[in-house]
Amino acid sequence: MKFDCDFAMTINGQSVTANNTQPVYNPATRAVFAEVPDASPAQLDEAVGTARQAFTSWSKTSMEERQAALEGFADLIVDNAEEIMALLTREQGKPRAGAEWEVLGSADWLRATASLRLPQETVDDTDERRVVTRYTPVGVVGAIVPWNFPILLAIWKIAPALMAGCTIIVKPSPYTPLSDLKIVELAQQVLPPGVLSAVSGGDELGKWMTAHPDINKIAFTGSTETGRHVMRSAADTIKRVTLELGGNDPAIVLPDVDAKTLAPELFWAAFQNNAQFCNSTKRLYIHEDVYDEVRDALADFVANNIKVGDGADADTHLGPIQNSMQYGKVQDYFADCHSNGYQFALGGDIDEDAAGWFVPVSLVDNPPEDSRIVQEEPFGPILPLLKWSDEADVIARANDTIYGLGASVWGKDLEACERIGSQLEAGTVWLNEVHQYSPFQAFGGHKQSGLGCENSLHGLMEYTNWQTMTLNKSGG
Ligand code: NAD
Repeated sequence: MKFDCDFAMTINGQSVTANNTQPVYNPATRAVFAEVPDASPAQLDEAVGTARQAFTSWSKTSMEERQAALEGFADLIVDNAEEIMALLTREQGKPRAGAEWEVLGSADWLRATASLRLPQETVDDTDERRVVTRYTPVGVVGAIVPWNFPILLAIWKIAPALMAGCTIIVKPSPYTPLSDLKIVELAQQVLPPGVLSAVSGGDELGKWMTAHPDINKIAFTGSTETGRHVMRSAADTIKRVTLELGGNDPAIVLPDVDAKTLAPELFWAAFQNNAQFCNSTKRLYIHEDVYDEVRDALADFVANNIKVGDGADADTHLGPIQNSMQYGKVQDYFADCHSNGYQFALGGDIDEDAAGWFVPVSLVDNPPEDSRIVQEEPFGPILPLLKWSDEADVIARANDTIYGLGASVWGKDLEACERIGSQLEAGTVWLNEVHQYSPFQAFGGHKQSGLGCENSLHGLMEYTNWQTMTLNKSGG
């Protein structure tokens, strides 16, 4: 199989093109390097219809059979990892280390999710009656995926859907469709036709999916704004939804930290994947006693260690912004900081003539709490550093947001870390670490960062309906 050409959808196990195509850009050069099919409504109907047919038999397979298929899929990803990583870097922009984490991590995720088992719970078992709660597959799933981790976030949906006995249709982001189309094509070697399909197209295709009467559940990762549309549209057919949405994660730095030691950790907390990361630290609250030291240590770390460039170059640490739409949004945050007179401790100027959508790592020095750069999700490498002195006040500021995805606390005083962490409103609270994920850990957002969760047995159960079955043992 080739990974650098022939990008096609997969419907009912077959490669499918479309009358229209859409361009795909390399963000490091701003040049179009591929075209993908732009699915029609009829093609979506075909994908849903064949997924429905495939559901009849896939839902009856044992979890051991599903596990074997997922492990086969993981092997195929590992066997083709080099090609998939190169393609991911080319369309997404991320450097090698990030591509490796995502691609090999996806294989690990498949294997781990495949080891989970849905329970059957006996609620009551007497001489007269047995009552059990079973978990039955929800049906045909539509997976809608963003552009920041296109492969991993598709796998986070594919793996539990298939293990639960569902069939699934993946719609990649129009900005990063290529890797997802290829991995779905690859998976056909180990799955019956129609069990896993992929359709590509624009945002309209996502809308058709959320409104489709024969899709039973939407698993969505993307912005909070789009999440609201998904939920509204799914309401008409009472579809199940899992929503993994935006975040504005706070990190709170205590006065007892060692600034130099902590600087690399705080840097990666905020700038991993070029800050195009739902769980990036997006507000860094530093105690006033160490504010200057931490700010300067961060700026030094970046100046001495971090190269922004084409992800295909071996020495690049951070790639470009993934697409022109997002580049425009990030430019707007820089302009807003400049027009309000906020000071930059590092960076601050975008070279608009650069070959790709590159943005320098930028630190904004203690802007007001109500500034856009603090209140909103920039999704790019610009981080506000904020001073704090009173514990109750910093907790209130950290929680004063519509978001509740992640949060972290950093300090030598572990009791203080736990005391503060336990008061933060977020789906994941990390203490003295960040971005520690596992297929066995539930991941999801509080407040407007989402609904439901992914990963763990809880995430797997989101692809099921619970069913109560009672047996009256006295016979008919
Ligand atoms: P987006 O919401 O613009 O798009 C996500 C997906 O939704 C794309 O596939 C898009 O085509 C589709 N879409 C757009 N409009 C739609 C509609 N009306 N109906 C159905 N589908 C539609 O998000 P993005 O820009 O691709 O991703 C960035 C956002 O995703 C950020 O806000 C980020 O925080 C969030 N995110 C969240 C998580 C998480 O797990 N919570 C993970 C990664 C990214």
